[in-house]
Amino acid sequence: MKIAVIGTGIAGVSVAKRLAALPHYQVELFDKGRGTGGRMSVRHTGAHSFDHGAQFFTARTAAFRDFLRDYQSSGVVEEWQPKIATLSPKAELQDRVWREPHFVALPNMNGLCKAIGEELNVLLNTQVHFVEKHDGYWWLKTAEQDFGPYDWVVSTAPPEQTRQMFPDNIGQDMDATGFAPCFSLLLGCSGSLPSWDAAIVKDSPVSWLAFTDRKPGRHSQPSLVAHADGAWSQLHYDTDREEVKHLLVDAVASVAEITHAAAGLHRWRYARVTEPFGQDFWINEASQLAACGDWCLGNRVEDAFTSATRLAQRFEER
Ligand SMILES: Cc1cc2nc3c(=O)[nH]c(=O)nc-3n(C[C@H](O)[C@H](O)[C@H](O)COP(=O)(O)OP(=O)(O)OC[C@H]3O[C@@H](n4cnc5c(N)ncnc54)[C@H](O)[C@@H]3O)c2cc1C
Repeated sequence: MKIAVIGTGIAGVSVAKRLAALPHYQVELFDKGRGTGGRMSVRHTGAHSFDHGAQFFTARTAAFRDFLRDYQSSGVVEEWQPKIATLSPKAELQDRVWREPHFVALPNMNGLCKAIGEELNVLLNTQVHFVEKHDGYWWLKTAEQDFGPYDWVVSTAPPEQTRQMFPDNIGQDMDATGFAPCFSLLLGCSGSLPSWDAAIVKDSPVSWLAFTDRKPGRHSQPSLVAHADGAWSQLHYDTDREEVKHLLVDAVASVAEITHAAAGLHRWRYARVTEPFGQDFWINEASQLAACGDWCLGNRVEDAFTSATRLAQRFEER
């Protein structure tokens, strides 16, 4: 059985690793990005490193906690216990307490996906434009060449992108899902800095601040990530990027005194799921196409893992 998996975020590498372990299964992974990790990614700028997507992950199911155990033993995953605050331009700083363990991957957030995908057959910098069936087998069409033949194609791209790759008449039910975008402002900092490591921000265009360099295992100069609120990001989605950057820098300045030398901006088109699909995964047995990812179940790293694991279980039961 030959399977193409599109995407090397946590869902892609998780489903691929389980399928590749099955007898007579051959799995090939494709990602349009330069590295493995998807939304669990890192941006390096000079001496600064920014976890500009997922900030941490929680593990609420026994299955995810069990899965993480090996990666914790090998130092790829550690619990993060930041000094965390609530900030608002209208109120005094308040300390905050997290009531469940929060984990990060090392040396950057993509470390976990890299480790899971270590022995898998991964092709990066390869954008799949669409999939096409010939003589009963699937082929992946990219700008340079066609890849195939495959018995099955599994997409872990967000549903809108999956629909663009899959044939027109397949997967309309995925359209019911919704995503909010998110701007990530990346500030290379210097001078004296706040004592909190991360902060939830209220009454502001910014909803989250965190110093990536203060997470375990980082080797970076002070690097602050500021995430814009989802509704604000939607409203300013097409606003000139320099203007967005200035608005977000001002929003950060209204809650914290931070000297920054450099500012970068990243726009996530499909950042956080607002309307999940509501099923563990999407599958069409007749056409031999499937899809999984966070969007099936929720908006967290663990949801992506769970969706991928349940899809892999479906293949294991065959
Ligand atoms: C700003 C931000 C902050 C977040 N914070 C948190 C957090 O703190 N905690 C948490 O649990 N979750 C957080 N999340 C959500 C978390 O990142 C996601 O739930 C999770 O990473 C989704 O994994 P996935 O594998 O389903 O999808 P993705 O990671 O998006 O992987 C999909 C992959 O498919 C690839 N792809 C898409 N189309 C194609 C194509 N045509 N050809 C080839 N490859 C393609 C993409 O390049 C990508 O690598 C955050 C997300 C963002 C954006």
